Parts: sequence; structure tokens; C-alpha cells
Amino acid sequence: MSSSVSTASIPPWNRVYNLQDLENWSFKGPSLAVLGHPIAHSLSPQIHNAALQQMGPQFAGWRYFAFDVPVEHLGEGLTLFHQKNFQGINLTIPHKVEALSVAADIDPVAKKMGAVNTLIRQEQGYLGRNTDGFGIQNALLEELSSELSGADIIILGAGGAARATVVQCLESNCNKVWVGNRSEERLSELIHSLGGENPKVSTFPLSAPPKSLPTSSILINATSLGLRPDDPSPADLSTFPRNLRVYDMIYNPPETALLAQARKLGMPAANGLSMLVHQAAKSLSYWTDSKVPVNTMFQALADSK
Ligand code: NDP
Repeated sequence: MSSSVSTASIPPWNRVYNLQDLENWSFKGPSLAVLGHPIAHSLSPQIHNAALQQMGPQFAGWRYFAFDVPVEHLGEGLTLFHQKNFQGINLTIPHKVEALSVAADIDPVAKKMGAVNTLIRQEQGYLGRNTDGFGIQNALLEELSSELSGADIIILGAGGAARATVVQCLESNCNKVWVGNRSEERLSELIHSLGGENPKVSTFPLSAPPKSLPTSSILINATSLGLRPDDPSPADLSTFPRNLRVYDMIYNPPETALLAQARKLGMPAANGLSMLVHQAAKSLSYWTDSKVPVNTMFQALADSK
């Protein structure tokens, strides 16, 4: 393969690569990638490449690729990605937590969130950051006209996405966060990860929401219940105070049982597509130091259906 950055020499982005392909990678142009295992379902190459195409001639030679990398090979993989001139990397399941121990440096907010979804190339290795918190914050603003600052927020779930959201809420000076989860264990882990009990964070069992929930709040589903089309809702919204705005991080299927009930009850509601786009746009802005066309990313998602 030629080492020039002519368009003809750029490897196709609409296929999945692996570490063997990376060892033989001779493309010298600016490359970006998402790493996951599995990864074939990822929509990230579509949205990033569509945005790069719109960002002007200086990004004409940039490409974003998908790599299938098992978690036990993440460390050695990152060394190779760095050698091969990859400017930035997104991490998805199962790499977000493992990255904390293999990236050269971790930004303090990502450390608090306990997960890294974005790696930014530096001379000595990659700096790990987390743009999921930014993604949810912007999604709530755009879709539900809701600021985190001063807000009361109910989060369903206590896994990685919930933890990033709790940290974002606290960083944004929310009024209070209630976190409900099925397993008690993960709630304890979440509180532990925040450095112990925090007056701004209360927890409750998902099956028994407290009677004392605030009358007006944002409810966010950060459980994976709803990913399968026949999944029940993680909560019965008729048992919550009526003045709720509901955000479901799940975007496929586009309308979960939770969202269907919210609409039936007349509550403003939105799915997780906007979070997906805003976290992606933030990563791309870190890598390119340029304004990212968010609408082009939304359009690319619509076109991929
Ligand atoms: P994790 O695996 O870290 O956490 C999963 C959470 O879901 C846990 O709290 C778990 O509770 C709960 N859960 C799983 N099954 C059930 C069930 N049957 N009933 C009740 N609770 C259940 O996943 P993530 O935090 O990474 O992701 C959570 C969701 O957010 C996923 O649906 C993911 O697709 C979505 N997401 C969307 C993003 C976007 O850009 N839109 C970005 C990131 C995530 P327990 O502790 O009891 O097992």
C-alpha cells in the first residue's frame, strides 16, 4: 500500500479490522478508530466519517475505522495504534474500564467516572477522557430543554453509564441525584466510587422507589433493560411524581416500554440517539480541535437505517 495520503491509498472504513491488520497497517494518514469486542454493529464509523467529510479539505485524508480487539489485547493494541499514528480512539464494550489501567494518562473526571471512552494521542501515549457525561448533558438540553445545573435527577441503573451520569450531574452542580438499581451491590460500588456517602446522592432499590422523590425531575434510564424489543420497563412511571421528563439512553429499539409509557402519560421523552451523537462530536472535537457538524452526524444515523 502506498504511504501517500491520496484518497486511493486510504483503506476502506466500512469493514472491521483486527490487530493482525494493524500490524500490517501501512496507511500513514491521520487515522481514528473505535475498538470493541464485538464491534461490527457500531455506528461510529458512519457518523465520524460523515462529519470529517464536511469539515473541510484539511480533513479530507482523515478516516475513522472499526477494530475488533479482545480486552486482553487492549494494552499491546494501544502501543501499536500509537506507533501507527492513530490520532484518537474511541472505546466501547468491554474496554471502557480496562483503559484506566493501560492508558498513559487519565483525565481526573474520567477517573471519577471510572471509565474512558476517548483516547487522545500525546507524544508518550494516549490520554484517556470520557465524553459520555458531556453527551448526556447536551442530549438533555437539546431534547428535553433541561439543564443539569440545579436539577433533581433520578437515574435508573448503577453501571458504567449511570456512574458517568452521576459524576456529570455533580460536576454540573445539580440539586440532587437519586439512583435506583436492581442489585444492592452495584449501588454500594457506585457510592464507594464517589468516595463514600454524598449528601447530594441517594440510592433506592429499583423495585421500591421512595415516596419522597421530588415533584419535578429528570428521569434517566441507564439500565440495559429495554435493549431487547420485548423487555419490560425498568420502572412503572405511574408510581412516580407526574412532572417528569424522561430520557432513555437506549436508542435501539427507538421506543422502549419506558418511553412508550412516558408518552402515554404525556411526559416529555427522548431516546439515546442524541447522547450517542453528542459524545461522538465531543471526541471528534478533541482530536481535530475543530467545530464538528453535529447535524451531519444525526443525518448519517438517519441514512444508516
Ligand atoms: P452496565 O452493564 O455497566 O450496567 C447495566 C445496568 O443495567 C446495571 O445497573 C444493571 O443492574 C442494569 N440491568 C441489567 N439488566 C437488568 C434487568 N433485567 N433489570 C433491571 N436492571 C437491569 O452497562 P452500561 O452502564 O455501559 O450501559 C447501560 C445502558 O446505557 C445500556 O443500555 C447502553 O446501551 C446504554 N448506553 C447508551 C449510550 C448512548 O450514547 N446512548 C452510552 C452508554 C450506554 P444490576 O446491577 O442489577 O445488574
